Amino acid sequence: MRGIQVSPGIAIGKAYLIGNKSPKVERKQIDNIEAEIERFHRAKACCMEQIRSLCSRVTEELGKNEAAIFEAHCLMLEDPEMISNVEAKIKAEKVNAEFALREFTDNYLQAFAAIKDEYLRERAADVLDVTEQIIKCLLGFETDRLAALDKEVVIVADELKPSDVARLNREFILGIITEKGGKTSHAAIIARSLEIPTISGVSGITSILKGGEGIIIDGEMGIVVVSPDKKTVQEYLVKQKEFQSLRNEMLSLKNAKSQTTDGYTLEIMANISYSADLQRAKSYGCEGVGLYRTEFLFMDRKQAPGEEEQFKAYQEAALQFGDKPVIIRTLDIGGDKDVKYMGLIKEENPFLGYRAIRLLLDQIEIFKIQLRAILRASAHGNIKLMFPMVTTVDELRQAKLILDNVKEELKREKVKFNDLIEVGIMIETPAAAIISDKLAKEADFFSIGTNDLVQYTVAVDRGNQRVSYLYDYYDPAVLRLIKLVIENGHQEGIKVGICGEAAADPKLVPLLVGMEIDELSMDPFSVLKVKSVLGKVSKEETKKLVKRAINQSTAEETKQILEN
Ligand code: PEP
Ligand code: MG
Repeated sequence: MRGIQVSPGIAIGKAYLIGNKSPKVERKQIDNIEAEIERFHRAKACCMEQIRSLCSRVTEELGKNEAAIFEAHCLMLEDPEMISNVEAKIKAEKVNAEFALREFTDNYLQAFAAIKDEYLRERAADVLDVTEQIIKCLLGFETDRLAALDKEVVIVADELKPSDVARLNREFILGIITEKGGKTSHAAIIARSLEIPTISGVSGITSILKGGEGIIIDGEMGIVVVSPDKKTVQEYLVKQKEFQSLRNEMLSLKNAKSQTTDGYTLEIMANISYSADLQRAKSYGCEGVGLYRTEFLFMDRKQAPGEEEQFKAYQEAALQFGDKPVIIRTLDIGGDKDVKYMGLIKEENPFLGYRAIRLLLDQIEIFKIQLRAILRASAHGNIKLMFPMVTTVDELRQAKLILDNVKEELKREKVKFNDLIEVGIMIETPAAAIISDKLAKEADFFSIGTNDLVQYTVAVDRGNQRVSYLYDYYDPAVLRLIKLVIENGHQEGIKVGICGEAAADPKLVPLLVGMEIDELSMDPFSVLKVKSVLGKVSKEETKKLVKRAINQSTAEETKQILEN
């Protein structure tokens, strides 16, 4: 079976199905009201303990922002409305606590179901999550199946919530397969930071399996093998060994220079989404942050982070990397990245709509708060600013004007910041690539976002499986645009990088070197793979390659040349 590659690596083990069914609750008559209320409070306390310990584990392993949702769950456990309702029902009807709690939740959910506001509906889902956990404690359920695992398994689920992934006892999780969720889902990002081989988008797998079957995940290829025969297991054991030794071999490259055999150097940087990624990026020898996707700071919460919280997050990145560059991208919300409380209206074509810089230029207050936070952090390291999805020169001018206003504000307040902060843009639309000669006169650097550039060039939605055969960064139209952007950037003396997935493709790297790319930014683990490729090619050879590769008529032909 095939799915979407989320996190690399090979996993071989037994399937362990995670169902999301609620426990069955029966109405029971009780005699001792006091004892029943006491039982309810004990279960609540036990639940609180579990959530708190999860919260501190997540804070330690992934950071404060990721743990915020569990802090909210702790507060919900103490919700006076829930507590008084349950106690009143136990007293009035002499019923068992779990039944009283389930009735409370059902009524609550019914009231919320009629509400259109997605933010409030989300809140109801959190309440359900918390009350279900208390019910499980009351029923003596093994509440934390994921945390309680005691043997190595491959998790198979319809969908995993970020909290589920964070809960996983890493020691026993060989890999993860889900039916729903894509590469950019929260759960996917956490799985990647935990380095668990993961594939998502494997439709139908939960109905095919019973649990306990042998299963193989090839995270690199996006392949799942169900009930493999001995020969296949042997083959994958070899692949697994190869992957591990490649990983070890690559770790030795951690401190290697990002240089070709004839001394051409380029910056190899990290794409990060959370503070927790900073450590990982450093441990793999990244030479800075080429893309900080700040929108993740705004997700999985009830309201936008304020200036202070954002400042702390950006400052942390600046401090961790010292004089190495940290490119902070302003919010890229919209498209497939929805943020509930921003009240985005459903659009026919969200990728062609209200997104990224378009949204920021419309919601200026949000933009200004973020700019203030980034500028303040710029006093603590080598921060650069980057605007997402610019299409016209006017957009860049408008954004820079707002930036100037914010700078003036800070100056008036005598707040320190780097007045000479570099301001770059992402080149993600064909329009921007085509007029990159003009944009290069007004931007300090370019970073090509190939994930979007491909979708807008070949007119294929990033997430649409039916036409995904067209989504290919080897497409000659895309490669010509990349070449054009690099040339136009260099003509004006500015640096050009790539921060889309293409930057981490070892086959493409020599071609990009030949085109004289200045910087490549990617998932931290891929940095080693790319450094290893760089150490095997010479700039002169790659230049010859460009001429041949760029003149092919199809993506397949170019791929063939690069493979050879
Ligand atoms: C891109 O489009 O290539 C990119 C890096 O941005 P994102 O994936 O966040 O849209
Ligand atoms: Mg993009």
